[in-house]
Amino acid sequence: MKRAGLGLQSRFQLAILVLLGFVALMLALLWYRQTVSQQEVIEISRQSTHALLAEQVRISGEAQVRQLAEALANPLYYFDLDAVGTLARAALRGPDVEYVLVYDENGRILHDGSGDIPAFGQPMNDPLAKEVATAKGPHTRQVGELLDVSSPVTIGDERLGGVRIGYALAAMTRSEDQAVEALGTRFGEVNRRSLSWLLLLCAGFAGISLLGAAIMQRLLVRPIRMLGDVASRIESGDFKTPVPASNRTDELGELVRAFDRMRESLARHDRDIRRVAYSDALTGLANRLAFREALEARLREMKGAGSQLALLFADLDDFKRVNDSLGHEAGDEVLLQVAERIDRAVQSVQGAQALVARFGGDEFVVLLQADDAGLQVDIRGMASKLAGALVEQLGEPLLLHGRQVLLGVSVGVAIFPDDAGSASLLMKNGDIAMYQAKVAGKNCHRFYSRAMDQALERRVRMEQDLRGAWGRGELSLVYQPIYRASDQALVGCEALLRWSHPEDGAVAPSVFIEVAEQSGLIEVIGRQALQHACTEAASWQSVSGLEHPLFVSVNVSARQLRSGDLVKQVADVLAQSGLPPERLHLELTETAVISDEANATAVLARLREMGVRVWLDDFGTGYSSLSHLRRVQVDGLKIDRSFIADLLRDPDDLALTSAILAMAHSMGVTVVAEGVERQGQLDLLRERDCDLVQGYLLGYPMDARDFRDLLG
Ligand code: C2E
Ligand code: MG
Ligand code: MG
Repeated sequence: MKRAGLGLQSRFQLAILVLLGFVALMLALLWYRQTVSQQEVIEISRQSTHALLAEQVRISGEAQVRQLAEALANPLYYFDLDAVGTLARAALRGPDVEYVLVYDENGRILHDGSGDIPAFGQPMNDPLAKEVATAKGPHTRQVGELLDVSSPVTIGDERLGGVRIGYALAAMTRSEDQAVEALGTRFGEVNRRSLSWLLLLCAGFAGISLLGAAIMQRLLVRPIRMLGDVASRIESGDFKTPVPASNRTDELGELVRAFDRMRESLARHDRDIRRVAYSDALTGLANRLAFREALEARLREMKGAGSQLALLFADLDDFKRVNDSLGHEAGDEVLLQVAERIDRAVQSVQGAQALVARFGGDEFVVLLQADDAGLQVDIRGMASKLAGALVEQLGEPLLLHGRQVLLGVSVGVAIFPDDAGSASLLMKNGDIAMYQAKVAGKNCHRFYSRAMDQALERRVRMEQDLRGAWGRGELSLVYQPIYRASDQALVGCEALLRWSHPEDGAVAPSVFIEVAEQSGLIEVIGRQALQHACTEAASWQSVSGLEHPLFVSVNVSARQLRSGDLVKQVADVLAQSGLPPERLHLELTETAVISDEANATAVLARLREMGVRVWLDDFGTGYSSLSHLRRVQVDGLKIDRSFIADLLRDPDDLALTSAILAMAHSMGVTVVAEGVERQGQLDLLRERDCDLVQGYLLGYPMDARDFRDLLG
């Protein structure tokens, strides 16, 4: 099974990718930090350059103004405006000088270095004017991009006025910008260099990662994948493909070698298991698995060749009885002898090859194929012959520790390709045909036909419908009166099940009871029948005018007898209904009792201890002999109606009936005759001292209400 998900390599690549991303992020962060600190450096150097230059301008400005103030002392004293103008103009020509103002002690402008002095005599009216005019000594102020430096002009202690020079700082800003630009260019170069280093570093890291991935692929992923491929081949059952040899000395090499050893050991185990798995341990025959594979292989070979195959499905009759009564060891012995006999039967069919298999339990299967596959052979004829031989061989008594064991076999035959085109259908149809052989009375063979499918379908449907039929009120009981033969007094009745199917109407009890028995449903249905019958019978006690209390006789199936809790069931039902035990009769078929004699004897004894009467039903139809009657203690037996039917015509039946009566009476066992339909039969039975009689002549099975009416 492949699981979708990331492989080792993909995971590794993903991890590398994440790492690479992380490294790139770190580098980008580093880069960012570097540019930010460069900006900070530039800003700081701009500020310090600015401060430095401003200081320079101030110092030189102040020196110039001081000199000018000294030079102006005399001209001002003598009010020599020409000399003042010469000095002022000379100063104005100085670099970066924006204006020159010479003023008198009242702060009025005397000269500004111009030719016609338009502001002559006017007071200085800029914001610094007052401060400058009143300053006692040199005075420096920066206003925006301008540095204003002034100094009073004095002679001795007398203040004559002052001089003011404005320096433009633009030039200073320009050189500042140049310096910063030069610094920026330097930094740019440094950055470019470090970026290429970083990129180189990144590329190197990516290269190493790729190399790592490639190495990992070679050393780890590839061998692991190879092992995975081999494992999936082993999983699909191919143990032959060897694991490619590895001469590596590391752990992986060891793993590869260990893997190969494991494959070899698996192959060995597989061979052993196959040997065990393909044969039946007891008989050594092929088992179901081997048979199926062989059948499928043959069908494949035969596809389109026009040849035919027959599959014989044989199931022993009553093998369970042998197993239950004689033990499993005896059962195994019987199966071995059966296998031998099957082999003998197969050898008796000429011109065919056969494969015999045991499907477990008492099921044997034979695959029959004509020797000359190409020729027109009558495979049906061969299969019929083999089936006949099987029935004959297995019909002979087996000898087991000096005891004779009688078995039989039911055989179903299905033909390929007429009945089925595939192995599983052929086996299924063989099984269906075998089942029909059982239904037909066992110990015979049947060929598959399509009608059987329908019969089987009907059965399956019936089983489903029967489930819960009590709950839906479809099942009910009818009561058939039983009379004393001597005076025809009503003494009791037999409770009989009826099923009214919602679609099919009344279903024959022989049909649905068989289905209920086969499916196990009878255990539930039987218990409910017992309950209903006892409750009903208990209610008759209140009917007045009855000479003797009436009994009710309830049929119990072989399965109920085997179930293990029949005794408790009966005790519970009696306690619940309040019916006295001696008024309950249980009818068990002869075969049910004899097929499980040991258990049956014990159960019957306990029932009889409780006071319940036990009758053997359908007496004479089973293959038991009268001698069984001595071993199994019963209170009565019901002679099967097939004997009564021919009583007047068949002297054998009359003889047997008479013998049964005589022997039963000698043992103190009551005899009931079932199916009395004619007066003649009744007369004859009465003459032979039969105790009780039951039949259409005297009364049909009727519902509870009619039966109560009959009581009066
Ligand atoms: P059985 O126990 O032998 O019951 C007697 C059968 O003979 C009944 O058939 C009854 O209707 C029929 N019968 C009675 N008198 C005559 C007659 O004069 N002539 C003819 N031809 N038949 C007569 P039914 O009701 O069809 O039942 C068939 C079988 O179904 C019963 O045979 C019994 O084995 C089984 N069965 C019926 N009810 C139950 C039940 O509650 N539990 C079990 N386990 N089996 C039941
Ligand atoms: Mg009966
Ligand atoms: Mg009967």
